[in-house]
Amino acid sequence: MRKKIVAGNWKMNKTLPEGLALASEILTIAQTELSQTSVEIILAVPFVHLYPISKMLAQSTIQLGAQNCYHKPSGAFTGEVSAEMLASIPVRYCLVGHSERRQYFQEHSQQLAEKVNLLLKNNIHPIFCCGETLAERNAGGHEELVCQQISEGLFHLPAEEFAQIVIAYEPVWAIGTGINASSEQAQAMHAVLRKHIASHYGETIAQNCTILYGGSCNPSNAPELFACPDVDGGLIGGASLKARDFIEIVKSRMK
Ligand code: PEP
Repeated sequence: MRKKIVAGNWKMNKTLPEGLALASEILTIAQTELSQTSVEIILAVPFVHLYPISKMLAQSTIQLGAQNCYHKPSGAFTGEVSAEMLASIPVRYCLVGHSERRQYFQEHSQQLAEKVNLLLKNNIHPIFCCGETLAERNAGGHEELVCQQISEGLFHLPAEEFAQIVIAYEPVWAIGTGINASSEQAQAMHAVLRKHIASHYGETIAQNCTILYGGSCNPSNAPELFACPDVDGGLIGGASLKARDFIEIVKSRMK
């Protein structure tokens, strides 16, 4: 049985006091309303928030995630944060290759593969993001393109390391636009990705791989998206900034 996950990506939002208040609200509601949940809840928060929120979540089942790390282990890289530093907080998950990082910071497959390696070396699960732009979808070949992102970023890993990875399919045209992929579009791409993983690692590893959907997911559309057989949960941006909305999305994954 593969893990069901709902992860919140706060992006560059919330001051530290605001972030602490949001984490505290999520924690309080989760403890009263979700005590028996089999869904793994992850908060991927800004670097500044990681340590204080790690203290707040220490006795809970909510997991802490980072949104990025540098692709070198340590050294003269002013302003960057290493996987080893994240592990020392400790952080359990880290986003890799979010489309905003691919687009605004020109992150490419080689760097992403190096980040994945460093995170795994430090016992942090990468949440590897992939997805096509609208132009790429309209041109066709978007399935091959997303499979290529996965091959280039992950297929160098031995099977036991690949098993530590979570994948997030996030069509770029759906991120922050209010236009989510339809459940048919999401299911189709998730099934293609699972087949692609099976072709390289075999059916068992593919069936055990958690593949999240991300892109304008909210409490209204989450039930239909999560009902798809190959959609194992969500990576939630905007809706993760409101505790009640985020919790409602988690609840729809519990069904
Ligand atoms: C994201 O940034 O990962 C995301 C899915 O954003 P949103 O939910 O706001 O579209």
